[in-house]
Amino acid sequence: MAKRLFRYGFKSECESLAAAVRAEIGLGTREPLDPRALAEHLGIPVHPLSSLAGNGAVAAAVHHVVTVDTSVLSAMTIFPDWPRRRRVIIFNDANVEPRQNSDLAHELAHGLRLHEPRHAIIQGCRDYSKLEEEEAAWLSGCLLVPRDAAFTVAMSAVPIELAAIEYGVSTQMMSWRVNMTGAKTQAARIRANRRGVRRS
Ligand SMILES: [Zn+2]
Repeated sequence: MAKRLFRYGFKSECESLAAAVRAEIGLGTREPLDPRALAEHLGIPVHPLSSLAGNGAVAAAVHHVVTVDTSVLSAMTIFPDWPRRRRVIIFNDANVEPRQNSDLAHELAHGLRLHEPRHAIIQGCRDYSKLEEEEAAWLSGCLLVPRDAAFTVAMSAVPIELAAIEYGVSTQMMSWRVNMTGAKTQAARIRANRRGVRRS
């Protein structure tokens, strides 16, 4: 059997945490989440990269990341007053909206799990550990598409592509959540049972 990545209980903790912070901003587990609203609630400022243009070298670097090669930077968390733990998130607003939402949710997930950068670098660093990256990836999925939402999508006749748009996520993210949460399997079992009942 493959070695489990997360300790036992981690995934359900993430669902509970996502449900809790959603409730704090008045959202249920079946509603789309705007990560900017969550960031505001958590007191974590988010800055689009394009707003940091500045002059000279910074301007050239920002221009490159925003217009030439957007894959260079998705988002990062910086700790401007290290060793204080105040976080600030910079995200690349040249990317499409679903990508921005996912990047922001990922950085917020690091914050919710209180992950710390491994090297304290004043100018900002997202050198989290491999496990912490996996944790942030999993929790960000729970934030954007809680299991309840994934199950609702799996049970509905709405195509994944449309459900993804409704939740502000990519089609890949929506499929991943519907599959990985077990929502797809559960929905298929329920439909099969219903067919069985109808036949008998
Ligand atoms: Zn990360």
